[in-house]
Amino acid sequence: MSGPVITVDLEKVEENSRVIVNFCREHGIAVMGVTKVTCGMPSVARAMISGGIRQLGESRIENIKRLRNSGIDVPITLLRIPPLSAAREVVMYTDCSLNSELPVMSELSAAAEELGKIHDVILMLDLGDLREGIWPDDLMTAARKVLELPGIHLRGLGTNLTCYGGVLPTQENMKTLALFANRIEEELNISLEIVSGGNSSSLDLVSRGQMPKRINQLRIGEAIMLGRETAFGKRWPGTSPDAFILKAELIEVKEKPSVPKGKTGMDAFGKKPVFTDRGLRKRGILNIGREDVAIEGLAPVIQGVSILGASSDHLLVDITDSKKELKLGSEVGFVMDYGALLAGMTSSYVIKEPILRGVVKQQKRIVLTGDSPVFSPSFFPEDMRMLGYSVEGPLPATEDTLIETMKQGAIPFVAGRDRLTLLGMKAMGSALGQSGFILIDSHPSLMSDPDAPEDRKVLSSALGLFDPSINVSTEFSPENIVLIGIREADREESEIIRRMNITAFTMEDIDFLGIREVMHRSLRTAGAGTAGVYLSFCQNVIDGNGEGLTTRELHLAMELISRSGLMRCMDISGCLKRGQKDFSSLLHFTESVFGKRILIKD
Ligand SMILES: *Cc1c(COP(=O)(O)O)cnc(C)c1O
Repeated sequence: MSGPVITVDLEKVEENSRVIVNFCREHGIAVMGVTKVTCGMPSVARAMISGGIRQLGESRIENIKRLRNSGIDVPITLLRIPPLSAAREVVMYTDCSLNSELPVMSELSAAAEELGKIHDVILMLDLGDLREGIWPDDLMTAARKVLELPGIHLRGLGTNLTCYGGVLPTQENMKTLALFANRIEEELNISLEIVSGGNSSSLDLVSRGQMPKRINQLRIGEAIMLGRETAFGKRWPGTSPDAFILKAELIEVKEKPSVPKGKTGMDAFGKKPVFTDRGLRKRGILNIGREDVAIEGLAPVIQGVSILGASSDHLLVDITDSKKELKLGSEVGFVMDYGALLAGMTSSYVIKEPILRGVVKQQKRIVLTGDSPVFSPSFFPEDMRMLGYSVEGPLPATEDTLIETMKQGAIPFVAGRDRLTLLGMKAMGSALGQSGFILIDSHPSLMSDPDAPEDRKVLSSALGLFDPSINVSTEFSPENIVLIGIREADREESEIIRRMNITAFTMEDIDFLGIREVMHRSLRTAGAGTAGVYLSFCQNVIDGNGEGLTTRELHLAMELISRSGLMRCMDISGCLKRGQKDFSSLLHFTESVFGKRILIKD
């Protein structure tokens, strides 16, 4: 581990979602899952959806784009009231938004008309918390005006509490909300599909049976992420509070006195610290600080560890009474409150690591598929068997064969005359679900010109740029796609890489970071929250008059992929004919990817 990490237990997020969704359903309430504290992290959204969430809420358009890029297609509502200047974007990227300003809704209407869409609106009513919302006296006039806007559909009425003013949801204020909803329906002769009664602070009222029947939606973030309601901060029964854990590494462990020595002034943040003398204590420093996270919101997971204080890059802990033995390099975990989680998820210094359990185990079985004249079982020498692999096939490269092979935990080795990457990706998505993708190639294969050569648009095709009906981004989130060895890319390709959050390592990056670090980062990115990684390798990445990867670098890259145990499917293109000069090196790379070293060690 290098930097601090937040691990995200996706199963816990899924189970928390399920608990909240089922509880609300029993009370006639639909849950909008709110992803904003995770900055719209696609794997978290997906876990929520697996747990029964049917609609999402997000506060920022950037996060909504992030979700959409990863193929998340459930309705998404924009939670933060939209700015006048962004009406068009709001209509383009969201299905519905919360609103309180008529001029903004007018703009939304105009944008919707222009784009040939209808934009749904939930009017926000301020019941006293003094954040967003129309004051009750003005609501009926506003609602009437909204109905005159042609591009807008008034879908419901909502409120937000316990945010600025700390006003709690009560039977009374919820009844007011319900009454206003009824009044709009009666006086304006329409029906309101949604009456949205707040956030995680409304759950307690529901559990006491005091939520009026008319309230049929809650927008829930914290209760799903951190397993608690927020009116009183109580743990929510059946949910886990530790789906998100912040982990940092001890970078100093020493016995020191508990009171500073010398004349004291102000600390790094201009405060005058106070100390209690507890004698000599075993103290540790962790590689995380105020720049990464809100320190006040952390609680150590290990019993007996306590937080002493922090500066921008260091967190000081007392580990004298730790129940677990801690030494230099040990990892210390923390659960976070909402503020700390938000800061950590937003910090680019903190790595986010989703964890997926229950993945099919990889077996040491290679199944050759495709019509390659080069690869056949006899072609793989004894060495493969010495590495413990069995080699079967060749079988025709059909989607069914590939799916079946992967479901059994065997690794299809796809090689043929045509580049079969898209077929392989589709099969891996069906067989294993969420997957990562590593492309080792001299170009990104993301060309958006339909006339570009087939092998220059492998990924753009896979991501649905040409034919939206072929789009594997639901299983292969662009955030789990890594390109290695790029030495030529056109402007549009660079733009797609940036816009979609694809990770790319150019030859320059490899020179600078070294292939070991590049592979470490690549495997982490491609493997995060996935059932495994698809490796696509094109031989043109090598050398190219000294511009490309060296043979050594490629061997090391392959070895590191092998050691990670993440590879679940491999395809190879640019295969040369047997007997050609580069043929034996291709063979050796293939062996490396299945774990062959120069010296066999145990
Ligand atoms: C953030 C937010 C929510 C979710 O709040 P939680 O306390 O995380 O459940 C709901 N509604 C709006 C308008 C929000 O901004």
